[in-house]
Amino acid sequence: MSFNALLINRSEDKKVSASLETIDESQLPEDGDVIVDIDYSTLNYKDGLAITGAAPVVRKYPMVPGIDFAGTVSESSNPNWQTGDKVILNGWGVGEGHWGGLAQKAKVKGEWLIAKPERLNSYQAMAIGTAGYTAMLCVMALQKHDVKPEDGEILVTGANGGVGSFAIAILSAYGYDVVASTGRPEEMDYLTELGAKSSINRSELSEPGKPLDKERWAGVVDAVGSHTLANACAQTKYGGTVAACGLAQGFDLPATVMPFILRGVTLAGVDSVNAPLAKRQEAWDKIAEILSPEVYEKVVKKIALSEAIDVAGQLLEGKVRGRVVVDVN
Ligand code: NDP
Repeated sequence: MSFNALLINRSEDKKVSASLETIDESQLPEDGDVIVDIDYSTLNYKDGLAITGAAPVVRKYPMVPGIDFAGTVSESSNPNWQTGDKVILNGWGVGEGHWGGLAQKAKVKGEWLIAKPERLNSYQAMAIGTAGYTAMLCVMALQKHDVKPEDGEILVTGANGGVGSFAIAILSAYGYDVVASTGRPEEMDYLTELGAKSSINRSELSEPGKPLDKERWAGVVDAVGSHTLANACAQTKYGGTVAACGLAQGFDLPATVMPFILRGVTLAGVDSVNAPLAKRQEAWDKIAEILSPEVYEKVVKKIALSEAIDVAGQLLEGKVRGRVVVDVN
């Protein structure tokens, strides 16, 4: 039995290349107890880094990239999963250290899988994917720190990206007023449709700023890092919370402690990769409940597995809007 997969290889002179390959099922990783027939995977920023070799995301070669997928269990020696179960996987180093979702089949550890919420089909689940689920984790972080709609505006950075798009839609559905920070003001109609009330140009945040700035935001969902995150913290209102999940501008944080010690601002880190199972299931269930399927249609572009290499490059260049779902079949 063979199947199609994207495969990343590294040559002796350390050049990374990706190609579409036919792979025998016997080559699937041994350290897994569940085989899944994949319906859909997605392209995330991290997959872009892996496929293009732009950053050392892949920990061993050859590697099938793809940090998330949705599909149906075809074989299982794990007591928690039976043939026919509909499942989702995201994170756990899949697509980095363990073969991932940009393939027609995956063999993974049963404890990495979660049951697909019933109200979502596989396509919708991947329209949400890691980005939507991470956006929900960020919103949950704001809620945990008691940021309420009546407290004021929420800033979402990297607005046109997967995380940003979903953060806008989720926050708006919960009744928050969202200000989108974007380098693509020409996409404002799209951001408004998702629920953004207004926007600012990301250049207002991306340069070095003051340690403490005018208080503007009750909360922030930041997918960008670097000066943007530092400025977002400096502009957060007394007692507000900044949920930090990304590094699209950079992984540095050139900030001071002033917002934290003078305004009691909370910087809440958000990790989707190793989040505990209960938190994952909660985030997936909440997002399935709060967003209508029409939102996914606005955010998603569907591509074939054969297009994934080209689109990975475009993603890193910031040319892709919203989410990319990959039909692996
Ligand atoms: P996308 O590539 O879809 O979106 C990133 C967005 O950031 C772009 O659309 C763009 O938005 C903005 N952007 C891009 N380059 C820059 C720049 N140089 N300066 C400022 N803004 C920039 O990525 P995702 O939404 O999938 O992911 C966003 C970030 O979150 C990534 O860094 C990713 O690695 C991280 N992430 C982290 C997770 C975690 O577990 N912590 C999970 C998922 C993602 P616009 O054009 O509107 O300005």
